[in-house]
Amino acid sequence: MDTQIIQVKEQHTQEGLLRRAGEIVRVGGLVAFPTETVYGLGGDALNPDSARKIYAAKGRPSDNPLIVHICRMEDLPCLVREIPEAAEKLAEAFWPGPLTMIFHKSPAVPPETTGGLDTVAVRMPSHKTALAFIREAGGYVAAPSANRSGKPSPTSAKYVAEDMDGRIEMIIDGGDVEIGLESTIVDLTEEYPVILRPGYITKEMLEEVVGFVREDGTMMSDESGQAPKAPGMKYRHYAPKGTLVIVDGSEEKVTAYINEQLERLKGEGHKTGVIGTDKTIARYRGDICKSAGNREDERTIARELYRILREFDDEEVSAIFSESFDTAGIGQAIMNRLLKAAGHQIVYL
Ligand code: AMP
Ligand code: MG
Repeated sequence: MDTQIIQVKEQHTQEGLLRRAGEIVRVGGLVAFPTETVYGLGGDALNPDSARKIYAAKGRPSDNPLIVHICRMEDLPCLVREIPEAAEKLAEAFWPGPLTMIFHKSPAVPPETTGGLDTVAVRMPSHKTALAFIREAGGYVAAPSANRSGKPSPTSAKYVAEDMDGRIEMIIDGGDVEIGLESTIVDLTEEYPVILRPGYITKEMLEEVVGFVREDGTMMSDESGQAPKAPGMKYRHYAPKGTLVIVDGSEEKVTAYINEQLERLKGEGHKTGVIGTDKTIARYRGDICKSAGNREDERTIARELYRILREFDDEEVSAIFSESFDTAGIGQAIMNRLLKAAGHQIVYL
């Protein structure tokens, strides 16, 4: 299959192109598109064949449900059995935006889209091109992240093309994404809202709107002995080819420890890499050292993390060390993804 790549900078001037993209989805094809979080791999959410194609293109197990993307609040009732009051308030506060909510599904949503579950995940993204594309596609676009299974989610069209060229009909190139980590997922089918995956919208932000919010026990630890409620969270996602170890402690101790380990591993013939920050990066002696950004604004780190992990793969780095990040604010989402990538290997100094 030939994959067409189209550039869309301003959806106003590109309506013809997005109409063509929407048509592809309406007749059962797949189109990757930019959102504010990461790139999505979109198909018709109400067409079971489209869901099957998405799983095939990603190489993803079909028990891992997809997120249904909408572009108007009035399209939500078609997908869900009921809209709890908390969901209405959260939609009011955070949609369009990086929040996914889980509802009991309506019969309109095929089980292929939800991985056989009787619940459905729904999000309204804020990215202008995404909204225009979803409208052209008929209003209901099922989309996981547009990476091959086991790779970091793509934060630019270049990475989508690396993973999906020849597997899907079209890629909409809207440049680099803004946030760089997947949406916050909140389950609204229980008595209290439960965060299943941390993201840009934090627990504190949710609690300001709906009061008490719980966190899924499996979110930050691999030792809870429970199965995660978001089936996707059980897979070892985002794993780089090399080993990745996170090092937590004071700046002095962390830089000294990592440099010691780098010497040892270089001696063993490893190509080494470091994920540091603007302040510390010049002090590391790895073969390749990359700053993820600035600790004063952890949003910079969220935006760069997946790109860095992909680059280390391309550069065939075999041993990577990363500094650890705060678990407040978006830092919790950063650490959640980093811990997964590291297979929970963390050294506390
Ligand atoms: P991705 O689109 O790649 O970020 O993956 C979608 C995530 O949403 C996966 O972790 C899924 O397990 C999760 N998800 C989608 N639908 C549901 C649902 N009905 N219940 C719980 N988690 C869901
Ligand atoms: Mg994903």
